[in-house]
Amino acid sequence: MGEREPRRRDRQLDGASKTRIRLPLFWESEVAAFKVGLWINVAGVHAASRSGPGALVAGRETSPVSHRILQAGRTAQIDAMPPPRIVTTSWDDGDPLDLKVAELLRERGLSGTFYLPLIGYDGRQTISPCQSRRMVEEGFEVGGHGMSHNVLTPLRSKEIAREVGNCKKRLEDILGEPVRMFSYPLGRSNSEVVQHLKEAGYLGARNNRMLAHKLDFTPFEMPTTLQAFPLRKNDYLVNAARDANVGRIWEYLVRVKQARSWVELGKSVFDLVLRQGGVWHLYGHSWQMEEMGLWDDLKVILDYVSSREGIRYATNAEVLNFLPQNSSAVSEAVQSPSG
Ligand SMILES: [Zn+2]
Repeated sequence: MGEREPRRRDRQLDGASKTRIRLPLFWESEVAAFKVGLWINVAGVHAASRSGPGALVAGRETSPVSHRILQAGRTAQIDAMPPPRIVTTSWDDGDPLDLKVAELLRERGLSGTFYLPLIGYDGRQTISPCQSRRMVEEGFEVGGHGMSHNVLTPLRSKEIAREVGNCKKRLEDILGEPVRMFSYPLGRSNSEVVQHLKEAGYLGARNNRMLAHKLDFTPFEMPTTLQAFPLRKNDYLVNAARDANVGRIWEYLVRVKQARSWVELGKSVFDLVLRQGGVWHLYGHSWQMEEMGLWDDLKVILDYVSSREGIRYATNAEVLNFLPQNSSAVSEAVQSPSG
């Protein structure tokens, strides 16, 4: 998006964090799975021993009852596997300073999606075709941000089709590979825009909603966790209240109000994802990093979330693979070079 925000000071609030000794969730889950599996297996052997002669033959179980119980044990173990923990980033507007963001990500082994309009927001320069191709070669994703960064919702149907369809074709001509994701200019979308994106062949789209960290969204309503920008605390509340999302209003109440800065907020939600699983999604604009002098803050938060064991570092399109409702179909399309 190209929304420009005036500089605002973060309020200093007490951010005392609670410390407690506990096993990492992965191990808690493993222990729980082991206990469930052990209990069911013991119950299965017990049931088999009561099911009559021949239920156990030379240590090999032949009882259908115990077989079913052991199957249930294995299913319980699968269900108790730790949920995925994902870190993704996305960057809008295609400013030449995106190359600096890409460098910071690359140095830390982080991934990301760069959303490019064909004509720069507010007349701004955008990265060259050669530079965007190099980004893709380095493993980053390039997505669409409209032909000219026009907000799509007020446009007529033909104009929407042209903005999203031509953007996809032009980028694919430049990159030589499919463009799968789209970022709504200014985060604005409606059902008609989504329909045009689907018809153009996109797999998903990212909006500007924040404070999300669960894999519970639909592909064309991919939210974010936070913007790399010192927003006022009320901005988060307004953002969460825009679609009356109870979960994100709750996150505002328990997390935003205690955070001393956007970096502290990012760390807090990342810690939550580390414990419970989910997706941590930072989005921003490189030109804002420059204008607001946020590069050092960005390095701090990128350092914090990088090189973590058990974290999957993904592009936005790769995140779609982890959505439970569309995992198989999207997974094939994301992995297919011709998809
Ligand atoms: Zn934009």
